[in-house]
Amino acid sequence: MTRNLAPETVAAQAGGAADTETGGIVPPLHVATTFVRDPDNQYRKGYSYGRPDNATVRQVEGVLTELEGGAAGIVLASGMTAATTAFLALERPAHVVAPAVMYWGLRKWLQEDAPSLGIEATFVDAGDAAAIRAAVRPGKTRMVWIETPANPLWTITDVEEAARIAHAAGAILAVDSTVPTPVLMNPIALGADVVMHSATKYLNGHSDVVAGALVFKEKGAHFERAARVRGMLGGILGPFEAALLLRGLRTLHVRVRHQSAAAMAIAQHFARQPGIEAVLYPGLASHPGHAVAVRQMRGGFGGMLSVRVKGGERAAIATAAGVRIWKRATSLGGIESLIEHRASVEGPTSPCPLDLLRLSVGLEATDDLIGDLEQALAAAGAD
Ligand code: PLP
Repeated sequence: MTRNLAPETVAAQAGGAADTETGGIVPPLHVATTFVRDPDNQYRKGYSYGRPDNATVRQVEGVLTELEGGAAGIVLASGMTAATTAFLALERPAHVVAPAVMYWGLRKWLQEDAPSLGIEATFVDAGDAAAIRAAVRPGKTRMVWIETPANPLWTITDVEEAARIAHAAGAILAVDSTVPTPVLMNPIALGADVVMHSATKYLNGHSDVVAGALVFKEKGAHFERAARVRGMLGGILGPFEAALLLRGLRTLHVRVRHQSAAAMAIAQHFARQPGIEAVLYPGLASHPGHAVAVRQMRGGFGGMLSVRVKGGERAAIATAAGVRIWKRATSLGGIESLIEHRASVEGPTSPCPLDLLRLSVGLEATDDLIGDLEQALAAAGAD
């Protein structure tokens, strides 16, 4: 597919994939784990075994690489597989810089598992470029990892500035871009070297696939090592999940644009509510990262926001208990709106405030979502 098509065209047509055998406009699902060798012992069709590679997975990789403006991409069994593969593909020993506020599962892995693998992380306030600059060790830091907007405060990191700092220290910049998706932000165009997605979230969008992705600016050494890690450890996504993910990607743009607009309306509404202490959403001028978000995101600020409930932890948990339309569940980016008392998930070491509820806005009518949260706040005595 040519590079000059609009991203929504690439996504809607799944990168132009069709069944060449039958003319079917939905690409076939390739489930074979092994492939017939040519008589002279070669594999000229490019496939030998299902652990290093799969044709359905390749279709997803093609679409994602194009949407992110990268040179190569790999799709993996989960967002965590993708993220940890990016770290395991570094030359070691490796010093890395990561945000104090980030997806908690990856922070936990960096704190508890990565050191024994030769990866030492320094955690910083990634909303502050000076803190990133102070943490990098020229010649020793191999990767700066950022997530923007970052769970669950939606901290914004200036991607261009982070790229400059990383590159000046001889490191690469990796961006967990799960929340903005390629619809709202392209980290590679802002200077990043690697983009990571939990494809479990918006890319698939239907809460029925766990998947992850890495897209690389260059088909260079980091890409080669990451592809090798995936192949050796068997981190590839299964073909059935890849087919579902490809289907989900076809509606990515309409879903994310709607979810962003709805999240903005919900943020603005609850910013004026007496039962709410604060609304955390980068689309609001009150958010500390708003100006940078305006500069580096386009067409919206994403479908995720958090509210801090007056009355503290008790009122927050009671509010979550009282919703009828929002679902009390973890994860994000699906069709159905989710609400979660995040501190309960992240545990005592988390920087998440106890009165915080994380909201993932789905595709329901925005007024229904607002009304439901209002009645839950009132029932919890938070207003
Ligand atoms: N990054 C972000 C921002 C996430 O929200 C998550 C999951 O919640 C992950 C990474 C991990 O992805 P997965 O659950 O697909 O392994």
